Amino acid sequence: GFNCGIVGLPNVGKSTLFNALTATQAAEAANFPFCTKEPNVGRVGVPDPRLDKLAEIAKSQKIIPTQLEFVDIAGLIRGASKGEGLGNQFLANIREVDAIVHVLRCFEDDDITHVEGNVDPLRDAEVVETELMLADMESLERQLTSLQKKAKGGDKDSKVKADLMERALKVLQDGKPARVVEVSEEEKPVFKQFMLLTSKPVLYVCNVEEASAATGNGFSAKVAEKARAENAGMVVISAAIESEVAQLADPAEKAEFLESMGLEETGLNKLIRAGFQLLDLITFFTVGPKEARAWTVRRGAKAPEAAGVIHTDFERGFIRAETIDFESYVTLGGEQGAKDAGKMRQEGKEYVVQDGDIFHFRFNV
Ligand code: GDP
Repeated sequence: GFNCGIVGLPNVGKSTLFNALTATQAAEAANFPFCTKEPNVGRVGVPDPRLDKLAEIAKSQKIIPTQLEFVDIAGLIRGASKGEGLGNQFLANIREVDAIVHVLRCFEDDDITHVEGNVDPLRDAEVVETELMLADMESLERQLTSLQKKAKGGDKDSKVKADLMERALKVLQDGKPARVVEVSEEEKPVFKQFMLLTSKPVLYVCNVEEASAATGNGFSAKVAEKARAENAGMVVISAAIESEVAQLADPAEKAEFLESMGLEETGLNKLIRAGFQLLDLITFFTVGPKEARAWTVRRGAKAPEAAGVIHTDFERGFIRAETIDFESYVTLGGEQGAKDAGKMRQEGKEYVVQDGDIFHFRFNV
């Protein structure tokens, strides 16, 4: 599975948001036998109206959405890269995640202490990013000397690695995240090995006061500008509203409450979708009378990899994928209709999975 680490300074609303996420998940927990791994890890179903549509057509007994994992990473304060607070643990946890959800306090509230003294999301973002950049610089510097030696000794791989490292270091020293380092197609796998914290995609979550949940406020507008410039994602959320919505079990009641706040959907839905997009993930489906289920792969994945998401045996013994695109499945009234109309394709090992594909995998055991 794929995961997002929730980071941010203390008192910005991380736990409130995380608890709302897990409360929502608890309501759906019946579908997931394995949902509590660690207290700071929450798995959430990715909302997708296409899945409901498919289940309706196939009269599936069960609907199982694909999941995204959120990890609450507490303990970041100024000086974390020097081991302040839970510094080292914090950095180690971030290294493990696929993307970073960076929560920024965009609400005023005199009762809630701000560790930096006043509300200023751009400064807060910089505090967090600086710690991450310092940690990255340290890790690169640590490796670089020995690599340069090997490169001088004529080792070609070390030369490629050292060159890329020097470039990355230069970018970081200029005060920019490793995300903006220009990396060629060949260098990509090497760059990935560096495991740089600031090379991970970022989604800013602006936690605004309730009244601004639908529109955002002046603070979130500034963050939006920053996100655009960095090619990062951004969503506006009111953690307070989310934690209230998460308590409502009845969908009608939920919808009514959201409407009264001027919202069309929960902020959590927005967040989950944005996370999905940030990770460049796509969804494929398996559909039958027993269950309709959504699954996740990275964009660009080929059919055997998709099969492997369901079961490693499916990938190992992959023969072919019987594939129907979403539109055909729906407009032709399901699998049989699509088949009769010649819309069920036989795809091989090289087939690149398309968002919305419906698969049957054929494999050798
Ligand atoms: P964390 O330290 O980042 O995990 O922050 P918490 O989620 O524990 O929130 C810190 C405090 O801010 C708690 O008292 C929350 O109730 C409060 N809080 C969180 N989000 C909001 C918000 O949107 N508006 C207001 N007024 N308070 C909030």
